Amino acid sequence: MKDIVPLFDCDAHGPLYIAGPCSAESREQILEAARGVAAQGVKIFRAGVWKPRTKPGMFEGVGAEALEWLSEAKRSYGLHVITEVATPEHLDAALKSDVDGVWIGARTTTNPFAMQQLADALEGVDTTVLVKNPVIPDVNLWIGAIERIYNSGVRRIAAVHRGFGTHQATLYRNDPHWSVPIELHRLLPHMTILSDPSHIGGRRDLIAPLSQQALDLGFAGLMIECHPEPDVALSDAMQQVTPSVLGEILSGLVWRRTPADADVLRDFRMHIDSIDHRLIELLAERMEVARGIGELKRRYGMAVVQRERFNELLEAAKDRAEAFGVSRCFIHQIFSAIHEESVRQQVGDVEKK
Ligand code: PEP
Ligand code: MN
Repeated sequence: MKDIVPLFDCDAHGPLYIAGPCSAESREQILEAARGVAAQGVKIFRAGVWKPRTKPGMFEGVGAEALEWLSEAKRSYGLHVITEVATPEHLDAALKSDVDGVWIGARTTTNPFAMQQLADALEGVDTTVLVKNPVIPDVNLWIGAIERIYNSGVRRIAAVHRGFGTHQATLYRNDPHWSVPIELHRLLPHMTILSDPSHIGGRRDLIAPLSQQALDLGFAGLMIECHPEPDVALSDAMQQVTPSVLGEILSGLVWRRTPADADVLRDFRMHIDSIDHRLIELLAERMEVARGIGELKRRYGMAVVQRERFNELLEAAKDRAEAFGVSRCFIHQIFSAIHEESVRQQVGDVEKK
């Protein structure tokens, strides 16, 4: 997919911003939001016309009627406008209006059948398609969705990182799992990847820090939900900001794109490399010991997973890490992965017998 066309050149022009309300609610709300967003220098306006909601009975968007409001916003304020499509019928209606592109939401990206239907309907169509990440942190599912759109012939494709559903209580509405979009970038380096701090954070006060973090991690821009009266928004009220707050957030962001000076970084990089080598050696040593334990457990007929022992080990590791200023949550993730691999090594040994 090397010929995917980047949406724009952020190295030359700085980050790309997309803003607008979660949902199109009324003609007045759309025109007011578009005016406010344009006044902050944003060039691309978003608004959901059909809304995928978790539970029935919630506001599901006003439907095709709102496409007319988007085109009025486009004409009045010189904006490009985009909306979400989830079915070929949505796409057909959106393409008949004069929207400049569409985005595919997280729930749709998760479903290969729905993605293929959209891809079939995009055959021969000249438009821009933004593919949000699937609900689960699976980079291949995300790439598969992008590939279906690519195979339909569309070349202006970008990805939007909006975080991933999780059963764990976290600070965020959707866990960022930054490693997933970073891996996507490694695999498709020329494709534009934006971040959506509104859906990741789910809270107004998290938008600015998440936005800065995304830019620092190399994202090409941001999609931010912006509503003239966020408190009375019919969807995602907690995470929408007014156009003036959007302006404050954007003007507070720092775009760091000075090319890395190899000399300045060299010593640090050598240090990091040597730590990484030690980490790998330590992990190999730990697995070796785990296999030895596996052998003993088998000989004495003991269960492989001894949950109490793991819980004790995990809590002790988290306490120790905290004393060194390392986050408990990070240690939880690392130790869970190490433990899982140790169990696999022990069971693997049993399987071989
Ligand atoms: C949205 O952008 O309003 C939306 C519904 O997004 P997501 O698919 O990321 O939940
Ligand atoms: Mn939303």
